[in-house]
Amino acid sequence: MLVFWHQEDLRIKENLALSKACLENSNLVPIYILSDKLNLGESSGWWLHRSLESLQNDYAKQGVKLIFRKGNPVKILQEINPEKVFWNKTYSEDEKLVSQELGKKGKAFNGNHLVDIPNFYNKSGKPFMVFTPFYKALLKEIDFAEEQKISIKKGEDIPSDSLKSFGLLPKKKWIKSLEDFWNPGRKGAIERLESFKDETYGLKRDFPAERGTSLLSPHLHFGEVSPIEVWRGTTNEAFQRQLAWREFGTAFITHFPETPNENWQKKFDKFPWEENPTNLKKWQQGQTGYPIIDAGMRQLRKEGWMHNRIRMVVASFLIKDLLIHWKEGADWFWDTLVDADLGNNTLGWQWVAGSGPDAAPFFRIFNPILQGEKFDPEGVYVKTYCPELKNLSPKWIHKPWMAPKESLLESGIMLGETYPYPIVDHKKMREKALAIFKKL
Ligand SMILES: Cc1cc2nc3c(=O)[nH]c(=O)nc-3n(C[C@H](O)[C@H](O)[C@H](O)COP(=O)(O)OP(=O)(O)OC[C@H]3O[C@@H](n4cnc5c(N)ncnc54)[C@H](O)[C@@H]3O)c2cc1C
Repeated sequence: MLVFWHQEDLRIKENLALSKACLENSNLVPIYILSDKLNLGESSGWWLHRSLESLQNDYAKQGVKLIFRKGNPVKILQEINPEKVFWNKTYSEDEKLVSQELGKKGKAFNGNHLVDIPNFYNKSGKPFMVFTPFYKALLKEIDFAEEQKISIKKGEDIPSDSLKSFGLLPKKKWIKSLEDFWNPGRKGAIERLESFKDETYGLKRDFPAERGTSLLSPHLHFGEVSPIEVWRGTTNEAFQRQLAWREFGTAFITHFPETPNENWQKKFDKFPWEENPTNLKKWQQGQTGYPIIDAGMRQLRKEGWMHNRIRMVVASFLIKDLLIHWKEGADWFWDTLVDADLGNNTLGWQWVAGSGPDAAPFFRIFNPILQGEKFDPEGVYVKTYCPELKNLSPKWIHKPWMAPKESLLESGIMLGETYPYPIVDHKKMREKALAIFKKL
């Protein structure tokens, strides 16, 4: 018997390792092991449950049973004792241990990434630390290995846990709204891919009200589509660069596995972060008094997703206006994002903090008013998530506390009651953050 071990590749089609496994012409048993090392946020847990359900149905249509098990992958695979185990690489700790244990019985393929990250170095044999050279090298190396036809020879029936017993569906009420926005699984991923208009990506991608990006991030994270498949379908360079950032994120976490908890640039270890649970909570709940921040944080709660530019702006606000450690923000994102991805999230937060490789310098502090005025000039994005501001004119929408009393009155806004005053003064906090940074 041959086992196919699903990890972050919850698809049957366009699955390189699965197509290789089928070539063996042996009876095949697909398995998903919920590893006891897996640390999932609430939104990701919901997504994983729904995506596994969809994968289970796709297998069932071919008369194949997807096996669910929970525990230590090494022990579970040892106990099943198949002739061979095939999987797509994720570079996880579990995978390293499974690989060591199985030796030649284990067959791993690069089906989740554009290049084989652990073997992708610069000319000096070191990890790339700057994105542009990484990207140029990646363009030369992309591994377009074509999948073979997938025809599964059904294996024997081995014991399986139930998907429900994984306990992935969270209890929090706000998770319910995710159902309105997403369709986890291969079908939803393909629908999303086919509806994405890459020809307007360059024009629209920075404007959060436009929905001009692909929204593929959770589908890519859980491997319901492969990045090769997405890359093949586009010639838009701006979009391809973003797909390459995903590779850069994976490379970052693979080469520096300590970075979810540690600054990559050690000088940031001396930064005197503030402990301020009240402000942290206001940031999390979208109650900071800065509309662009509040809209972003409320979008995150409602949809489990946030537009990339707004992720940068809210992260900058937490780190540089509230002076709260980036780790607090990364943890909140981890719990709430449906696309929570250790590499991309860690890279994103350390990039904004200035503590990562090829990061934005710390002194680049986003001004939440100007960012709003530039990227949401009519306030359409803000009004979608902060309906209490819906009658305010574009002139004041990003700075309601500066609006004349009459405008507020006409718009039905009572600052401090229907919408908060700013919790900090951006200008003052900017100066404070820069003064601290100078001393580092
Ligand atoms: C503070 C912060 C935290 C982030 N956390 C995550 C995270 O946990 N998971 C995640 O997938 N992305 C994260 N990102 C990156 C980015 O915001 C999202 O990938 C993007 O918004 C997803 O939307 P999309 O699929 O429409 O992207 P598109 O613009 O359509 O891009 C296509 C794909 O490229 C990849 N990609 C795009 N931008 C980036 C980027 N900057 N870094 C790495 N990959 C990228 C994603 O897989 C995305 O689906 C984070 C960014 C920041 C600033």
